[in-house]
Amino acid sequence: MSALQDNFGRKINYLRLSVTDRCDFRCTYCMAEKMQFLPRNEILSLEECLRVAQTFVALGINKIRLTGGEPLVRKDLPWLAARIRELAGLRELVLTTNGSRLVQFAQPLAQAGIDRINISLDSLNPEIFQRITRTGDLHKVRAGIDAAIAALGSAQIKLNTVMLRDINHHELPDLVSFALAHQVNISFIEQMPLGESGHDYHGSYYSSADALTLLKQHYELIPSVENSGGPARYWRIVGHNTRIGFISPHSQNFCANCNRMRVTARGELFPCLGNEGMVDLLPALRTHNPAALQQLITQAVGDKPLGHEFDLTQGKPRIVRFMSRTGG
Ligand code: SAM
Ligand code: SF4
Repeated sequence: MSALQDNFGRKINYLRLSVTDRCDFRCTYCMAEKMQFLPRNEILSLEECLRVAQTFVALGINKIRLTGGEPLVRKDLPWLAARIRELAGLRELVLTTNGSRLVQFAQPLAQAGIDRINISLDSLNPEIFQRITRTGDLHKVRAGIDAAIAALGSAQIKLNTVMLRDINHHELPDLVSFALAHQVNISFIEQMPLGESGHDYHGSYYSSADALTLLKQHYELIPSVENSGGPARYWRIVGHNTRIGFISPHSQNFCANCNRMRVTARGELFPCLGNEGMVDLLPALRTHNPAALQQLITQAVGDKPLGHEFDLTQGKPRIVRFMSRTGG
């Protein structure tokens, strides 16, 4: 059982650790076209990332997700993964990636002990894929998905699709067919208004309810009571193992069951993705002060807000921090 509990009685057992704010893509909903990245000396070294992980695991965290930016632009990520995987008390080490470098890294990550990989895939059409990611190459990502399946097995791979009205929403049935053909799970995510990239969050918002209506025209979906410990609600298709999840921060607020904290590549601890509150861990990390680090984390858990402040009715995002900074 987790030793960490917030002031609303929620048990905190899950850390999302961002290892970089950089990325080889510039997804419209996540980044501006011309991004200002952190100076390198402000980014946690891999040893500091490991110390963050060690401290959280010592406090009772049992699941860690490595994320970014794009975690695989960070050299030596398998080294970090292997060290974190050895931590006593850690139940699961998982990764979220855009898939562009999995051909090179899937096997070393499997060897390092990564349990599962989530791969973002918003379109199966190379032009739409590029329109969304600005710089992404769909062929590389598809090869990366194949490499991840070969390295970890299809049951350990999940696809993540951010739903975008009039951009990719018509592709959702095809993305489900793709998941079925590859025997991998897939989650559809409602877009969250984060950062000021000039992107029209309001106009391109597509709800889980609309997606379900669309998918039910193509598949016989049955609701599933499964719970992965995250915010998704699941459905299955008769005769298939593939699980279809919906992550719906707007239409089905999941804050009451939130179990996670986020640490950025600069050592900022965000108790909530949809709030500006932050605790800076960097000074305690740089001065090698483990007691101060533990105390800051415990205090931040206590101060975790009750819910997010996303508001699609506003003309511009209320949270001006980009997703790539907080780590998705
Ligand atoms: N670069 C990796 C990737 O794309 O999978 C990991 C980091 S990315 C920030 C993590 C996840 O956040 C991705 O699945 C991405 O699609 C999602 N994401 C980014 N911005 C989002 C937004 N504004 N609303 C909802 N999901 C978002
Ligand atoms: Fe990069 Fe992931 Fe953000 Fe896309 S969603 S820009 S791949 S960090």
